[in-house]
Amino acid sequence: MAILKVAQLGHPILRERSREVTREELAHPGFQQFCRDLLDTMEEYDGAGLAAPQVHALLRVVVLVIDDERGVEFLINPEIEVLADSTRRTWEGCLSVEGMRGLVERPDHIRLTALDLDGSEKVLEIEGHGAVVVQHECDHLDGVLYVDRVLPRSLMFVSEYRRWGPPAEYDPAAPEDGTDQLADEAEVH
Ligand code: ZN
Repeated sequence: MAILKVAQLGHPILRERSREVTREELAHPGFQQFCRDLLDTMEEYDGAGLAAPQVHALLRVVVLVIDDERGVEFLINPEIEVLADSTRRTWEGCLSVEGMRGLVERPDHIRLTALDLDGSEKVLEIEGHGAVVVQHECDHLDGVLYVDRVLPRSLMFVSEYRRWGPPAEYDPAAPEDGTDQLADEAEVH
């Protein structure tokens, strides 16, 4: 088991495009070990997802939880196709942007094609929150971070977000006592 160092916003590696993993690499024990380390690192930092470039490896590999029933899974060389015009707004956080949250609007119905750790192909149609998580992780493989996509004036420190809640223009239904459930639900990737 190894906990890998997570690159932070500003490190150039987060802005590079990761390359595809070959079939030969996929079967290599060193690659399989890397994937276990990626998972260990995600769990160490309580993430809901982690992409290889975040641990300084420019490979198209992601570990994440799409939904609780499926549990933790790997996506290797993932491809996303948007299936509908509908979108959803989610408060996103990122292990590479420590201590911040921002509101991002993304398509909420996608088809995902990827290889699993054993080389088998999976094709999943995903709706709702899982679609957001997949897109956040796959963005990392193209050097894109959620802070590139946040809605204007929504980026906040977690500490202030917990104290004040979301900006008024994004949370018309905020309770008057200042409690905010979103603060606990927002995940980091
Ligand atoms: Zn992230």
